[in-house]
Amino acid sequence: MATRVRTRYAPSPTGHLHIGGARTALFSYLWARKFGGDFVVRIEDTDSERNMEQAAEKQMAALAWLGIEWDESVDREGDYGPYRSMERVDIYKRYVNQLVEQGDAYACYCTSAELEQDRERQLAAGIAPKYSKRCRHLTVEETKKLEAEGRTASIRFRVPEGESIVVDDLVRGQVSFESDGIGDFILVRPDGRPTYNFAVTVDDALMKISHVVRGEEHLSNTPRQIMIYRALGWETPRFAHAALILNPDGKKMSKRDEAIVQFIDQYRDLGYLPEALINFISLLGWSPEGEDELFSKEELIERFSLERVSKAPAVFDTGKLNYMNNYYIKQSPLERIVALALPFLEEKGKISLPLPAERQEWVTRVVALYQEQLDYVAQIPALTEMFFRAKAIYSAEAQEVLAEEQVPEVLRTLKEQIEGLHEALTADNVKVLLKQVQKETGHKGKKLFMPVRAAVTGEVHGPDLKETMSLLGKECVLERLQHCLDN
Ligand code: GLU
Repeated sequence: MATRVRTRYAPSPTGHLHIGGARTALFSYLWARKFGGDFVVRIEDTDSERNMEQAAEKQMAALAWLGIEWDESVDREGDYGPYRSMERVDIYKRYVNQLVEQGDAYACYCTSAELEQDRERQLAAGIAPKYSKRCRHLTVEETKKLEAEGRTASIRFRVPEGESIVVDDLVRGQVSFESDGIGDFILVRPDGRPTYNFAVTVDDALMKISHVVRGEEHLSNTPRQIMIYRALGWETPRFAHAALILNPDGKKMSKRDEAIVQFIDQYRDLGYLPEALINFISLLGWSPEGEDELFSKEELIERFSLERVSKAPAVFDTGKLNYMNNYYIKQSPLERIVALALPFLEEKGKISLPLPAERQEWVTRVVALYQEQLDYVAQIPALTEMFFRAKAIYSAEAQEVLAEEQVPEVLRTLKEQIEGLHEALTADNVKVLLKQVQKETGHKGKKLFMPVRAAVTGEVHGPDLKETMSLLGKECVLERLQHCLDN
């Protein structure tokens, strides 16, 4: 590739980083890294009514957390700044003036009321609404008159007539649009703010973006942008429009949908791991060669290709995300998972931080029991409930097990064994005690272990019984056994 690969993610600061935005950022990032190019984060804040305080900072923090590092942005000036649209207003002015001088753009004095009337008239006549071109051919006198009325102008692009504009898309192939279906669109609003289509074109061109990767919802904007590139004599970048992401029920994923968690911050706050999200998001529309689906960021950089991004919508599958997150949790050092678990335990009032060393060690062992089964770390308080309460809560299955005939004898014998023990419970000595109970009562296997588990945990399934008893401690185990014997 002759030109340097430069990609960008260009969020409007109107909300948190969404799964769809994260995918755009990730695909752009991977493509740039693959070729040793640059990845730019540019803030498109021209839609000031919708801007949200701190949204840009929060989106960037979420990107950084995911491990999507940028080379140039508002906090990292490169050669092509500023990286915030509203700081580039003078630049847009220069190019809009050029377009007006060339005759490719013109001042439009229509009021919103006039535009609205046109629209209604067109709709009533069954025509797709587009600008009426009322101001396309104003004479100098007419212009003067309108200005004397105190009207301020927006600047519109003069869309050429009878042309086919072809978007040569890396994902979708050649997509053709008829210019006659596109009304003369606004480049600069009466207050001087550029529209998205104008700002994005000027910025992508001046920032030497080689590949514009974004969601399918922008495909229909692309012919407008291509017309601006042409009018300004600029080379168009390559475009790649990734298909929509659908909900598990096959509907378009919408930000208001509550069925799935939508924002990266929320995943972070639930104890998902960034490498799991990166891996999962990479597969929303991209398919690697071969069967493997588990990739580190480095592997993704090596394997990713825009040519293998699909035209067909991707379906968001929470089960798959959880499977991947569980995989990366299992791969992680225990200390990392414990560090993530502590705030959840504190929030639920199970512990208070900082922990004394001994308690830290105990919590570490408790978390270790569940590391293999966690889908995400926020599950920890619910899973470890029984360790943080005096009495167990007995499930229906546990009660059924505890009603079996041999149970009182098994529990009584175990209780005596534990009472005779002069040291703390450990996984090792519990093993010996249980052997002893087996010997004395003649009960073994399920008949022995199920009632013990049910009595001390309240459940019939759970992590390693010996380690569980050791962590509950002698006093707690004895009380729970006594409780079952009494009831
Ligand atoms: N600011 C636009 C958005 O958030 C960016 C679109 C583009 O990448 O061109 O959707």
